[in-house]
Amino acid sequence: MRTAALEPELEPGLEPEELTETKLTGERRHDTCLLNAEVRERSFVVMVMKRSRVLALLAGGIFCVALMSLYRMLELMQGAELQHAGNPPVVQEDEELSRLQQKIDRLEHLLSDNNRLVATLRDSLIPRKASWEKEGEGANVSSVSIHSSADELPGCRSAGNMKDGADGVQLLDVYDLLPFDNLDGGVWKQGFDIRYNGNEWDEQPLEIILVPHSHNDPGWLKTFDLYYQDQTRHILNNMLIKLSEDHRKKMIWAEVSYFSKWWNDIDEQKREMVKRLVGAGQLELVTGGWVMADEANSHYFALLDQLIEGHQWIQRHLGVKPRSGWAVDPFGHSPSMAYLLKGAGLSNMVIQRVHYAVKKQFAQQQTLEFQWRQSWDSSPRSDITCHMMPFYSYDVPHTCGPNPSVCCQFDFHRLPGGRVFCPWRIPPQPITEQNIQERALLLLDQYRQKSRLFRSPVLFVPLGDDFRFVESSEWDAQFNNYQKLFDYFDQHPELHVKAQFGTLSDYFQALERRLSAADTTLPTLRGDFFTYADRDDHYWSGYFTSRPFYKRLDRMLEATLRATEILFTLTLAEMRRFHGEGRVVAGFPADEHFQRLTAGRRSLALFQHHDAVTGTARDPVVVDYGIRLFHSILNLRQVLQSSAHWLLLLDKSLYHHDQSKPFLLMDDVISAHDALPQKTPHVLSDEPRPLIIFNPTEQLKTSVITILVDSLDARVVDAETGQPLAAQISAVWTEPSRASTEAFQFSFVAELPPLSLVVCHVSKASAGSSHRAQYTFHRRGNTPTVNTKQFQVSHVTGPDADKPVSLSNKHVQIWSSLETGLLQKLRLESGLVREVKIQFLWYGTRTRGNPDKSGAYLFLPGEEGAQLYSSSKPPLVRISRGPIFSDITSCYQHFTHTVRLLHLEGHAGKSLEISNLVDIRSEKNHELVMRLVTDVANGNRFFSDLNGFQMQQRRTLAKLPLQANFYPMTSSSFLQDSVSRLTLLSAQSQAVAALRPGELEVVLDRRLQQDDNRGLGQGVTDNKLTASLFQLLLEERGGGTQDVGGASVEHLSLLAHLSSLSLCHPPVTMVTHSNTKLPKLRPFRPLSSSLPCDVHLLNLRTLEDAQKAESPSQEAALLLHRKGFDCSTIPKPAPVCTWSVHEEVNLADLFSPLQFRSVRHSGLTLLREDDNEEPPRQQQPPQVTRLRPMEIRMWNYASTCPLKV
Ligand SMILES: [Zn+2]
Repeated sequence: MRTAALEPELEPGLEPEELTETKLTGERRHDTCLLNAEVRERSFVVMVMKRSRVLALLAGGIFCVALMSLYRMLELMQGAELQHAGNPPVVQEDEELSRLQQKIDRLEHLLSDNNRLVATLRDSLIPRKASWEKEGEGANVSSVSIHSSADELPGCRSAGNMKDGADGVQLLDVYDLLPFDNLDGGVWKQGFDIRYNGNEWDEQPLEIILVPHSHNDPGWLKTFDLYYQDQTRHILNNMLIKLSEDHRKKMIWAEVSYFSKWWNDIDEQKREMVKRLVGAGQLELVTGGWVMADEANSHYFALLDQLIEGHQWIQRHLGVKPRSGWAVDPFGHSPSMAYLLKGAGLSNMVIQRVHYAVKKQFAQQQTLEFQWRQSWDSSPRSDITCHMMPFYSYDVPHTCGPNPSVCCQFDFHRLPGGRVFCPWRIPPQPITEQNIQERALLLLDQYRQKSRLFRSPVLFVPLGDDFRFVESSEWDAQFNNYQKLFDYFDQHPELHVKAQFGTLSDYFQALERRLSAADTTLPTLRGDFFTYADRDDHYWSGYFTSRPFYKRLDRMLEATLRATEILFTLTLAEMRRFHGEGRVVAGFPADEHFQRLTAGRRSLALFQHHDAVTGTARDPVVVDYGIRLFHSILNLRQVLQSSAHWLLLLDKSLYHHDQSKPFLLMDDVISAHDALPQKTPHVLSDEPRPLIIFNPTEQLKTSVITILVDSLDARVVDAETGQPLAAQISAVWTEPSRASTEAFQFSFVAELPPLSLVVCHVSKASAGSSHRAQYTFHRRGNTPTVNTKQFQVSHVTGPDADKPVSLSNKHVQIWSSLETGLLQKLRLESGLVREVKIQFLWYGTRTRGNPDKSGAYLFLPGEEGAQLYSSSKPPLVRISRGPIFSDITSCYQHFTHTVRLLHLEGHAGKSLEISNLVDIRSEKNHELVMRLVTDVANGNRFFSDLNGFQMQQRRTLAKLPLQANFYPMTSSSFLQDSVSRLTLLSAQSQAVAALRPGELEVVLDRRLQQDDNRGLGQGVTDNKLTASLFQLLLEERGGGTQDVGGASVEHLSLLAHLSSLSLCHPPVTMVTHSNTKLPKLRPFRPLSSSLPCDVHLLNLRTLEDAQKAESPSQEAALLLHRKGFDCSTIPKPAPVCTWSVHEEVNLADLFSPLQFRSVRHSGLTLLREDDNEEPPRQQQPPQVTRLRPMEIRMWNYASTCPLKV
């Protein structure tokens, strides 16, 4: 997308396309350099101070660790002896042996821990070669925190060890340091005056790599298809002609969604030409993702999936592997993306939209190129070389050098007479013999200035913009004029410059050559680049929430896709086993299903585009995306239903596929792209009706399943055992106090083995036999009339009306205000009490003639800040109590809010479920926020996740405006102090902030009447009735003396991981189409036990057949993510799943009795063999492989596997 003007008022009447940084030739501030020097000096002092502190800490650390370990070893040994002595003489040998084994494991682990720790400490003391350190801007080492409770949770240590890597720059520290003063930098408005002598390149000439590019948004102002028709296909057609004309011409392309569409349109001859260009290095596919994905709202499942889809396409059709990443337009950058790119085999990446103050600081320090390291990684394993563009935008005016009015003159698409021109009012000139010297020197001056911001004499200069190179004439204007300039440089060796067109990999290869020749390395950096500001206080935190309805729909598709992928792959494997010949069952539409899967993958992939999931496209484009998501969910459901059908049949010969009359149907119906799912009531009879439940998680789960029935009395039994399941009947409220007389909620508790299909039978029960929920209603000053005959209703009156209302289960007790229905306090079984007050608030936007107001991208709240939500009518509060769950619902004008407590034994009973139904369609310029006000002493620190992959520490800084302190939250956020941690898990992406100590707030929806000048040209007023879902988990911390927020890296607790898994991947409920003459069904249980709690089955994805396109192959990609987890919150009792102290896992054990015929480790997008320390293993079982905490790994396995049942 196009960026807005830095000073838009200077150019009235410009088309939005022309708006760009405008006249910046104002008076230069002579004090800029001074100030810069001051900042540099200050940072130096801070660094030196940190260094000496760090050295002391390190020394102390080594001593402590050594002591602690010795002590611990002694303790363990003594413990073993004591225990031995205390045991009765007759002991079970097995028990003893396993105990001993555990102890040896622990000792072994402690030893390796210590070795690693000592190695880390030693490494950090070795003086480094990098000029970063030489300049004294030294390493910033945080203390290695050791949790006293680590030993109580074996396996924790390995995750804990990865905390707080010892070297490199942490962005959090940069934020602490920066003044965010936004000084006028002169021609480079957000930067500074760059000086050079002119002799810097005498020894090593300046090497310019000019990289032509065209940024093609897969939907923004136009839909994906319309952009393709109007622009993209012409760009690619011309690319083919122009690059073939001259081998010196080059180009990069990023969006495989467009490229693959174009590929389908061109003939074989042209395809061969494309392959030749790619082979010759003239055309490079960069990143190779389906889209240039958003990095704030996208979940890592979808980020990786769109990368796999793109890479698989490239490998199949072009036979190459992308090497460099290109992300010039996403609104902020996440290290999760860097991790995935590295895992997919890329070595380099470019990022662009970074806070202008950070860019300036990095430019001053010459750290715009760095090794981006994961915060949790103490090794360089995850490092990827990253280039950050220094200036305001990726267009030509902001990429040749610091002065946009000069650089614009070298965008030859803006030559006079064309449709676009330079807003700085100095047009480009065609290069002629008369002007070439002057032009070449003018451009060289910009190149030289820009080059001073980097450490090597090779300079990367992009050449392009949005939807560029559409017409043949544009190609000629750019390439011919630049070639003349390059030739001039060649003819003038005294200038010490060589320039050429190149690809991104050409640049990074040249960089690597130069760095290794100079025997230097790039500095290491940890952290993320949120929240982005492009100018002034314009922070892009609005899009973290914009169009929340579709952000939720995105995650529904994601969950449906993952569930379908896994079940489809298992079905094919089972079918091949059934046939014994690797064949699929006749009549099963495997190819059609695979095509539906592929379409579903591509819809989800397309929606990860940085104008799609972000909610920043025009209304009709949003509808286009919505319809794609909606259709994909429906199509994937067909695959899921049909796969489940075959798996469940006892007599497989009865399988018959009929698309118009499927055997199984989903329990809920989605009627349109902008409608919420609705459950349909089941007509019950004495005849048992099968209900199928699929558990898409890798864990044994106790779940509450709710269906709608037409009867007040129902019973449900496990079809296999005939055992009745605990159940409850609740009312369906058609209005806040009016219960349906025809439909009722029937909820029951089901035990769901991992990845299983469970069959239950529901039938009508004898009158009065079902447990009915009981209701209490309250509305201040106005006792509501409740319309229900079937349920017991009471009202609170008298002095009781002033008391809080309380609900509890075995693990937790909550208190809510009866007046508002909102939560006030939580108490754990252990006695720990925390105030947790839920509030709702409004944000408005700026007023009093301020032209800058909130829009799709920007959050620019009014000066008054958030205002407590108040309504003229007091809310109706409805409390339900039942044996399966109890809840409190508050019905306000703009939202319905429910807090639910499940009466379950396991971990599902430990968290509160919070659900909101928001409708702000009657509002103007309002944003609704849910805030938790607690007594957690977290100071100014909190944690929010990045893409659901990792946690990132956040510091709320008073020097930044309110909107800068909002961050993206994809799936979780927490506050903690030394005794407790309060985690909010979410099922959708939205903005999160902790503006004051103890507070945590999420933005639920935003309705904004105006455009915010970033090119969209409209407000956000297409709000829907929007659902949001959360889990709130309070946990005790055993960390004791640990510093509050001392460690910059934290992980979710095991319990939080499990809750998040349940929240994001809920059970799928299906019913049979008809109730008569049903064949016999039996449950499907592919795994004999749950996976370890910390191992997540990210996906099991069937691959396309290499020979037969659009057909499933016999191979699948197995993706596992080993989660890092926190050691200081100890679940009691321990979860049923286990975890291991070892990094090695045995795939055969994990997936027993599924057997893999062969397993091959590969990169994350299956492009390349992993070539690090492990030799590639074409293994026969046992398949032991390494999976480190936080690591995602992929294995390619042949699924002709025999599946034992
Ligand atoms: Zn874009």
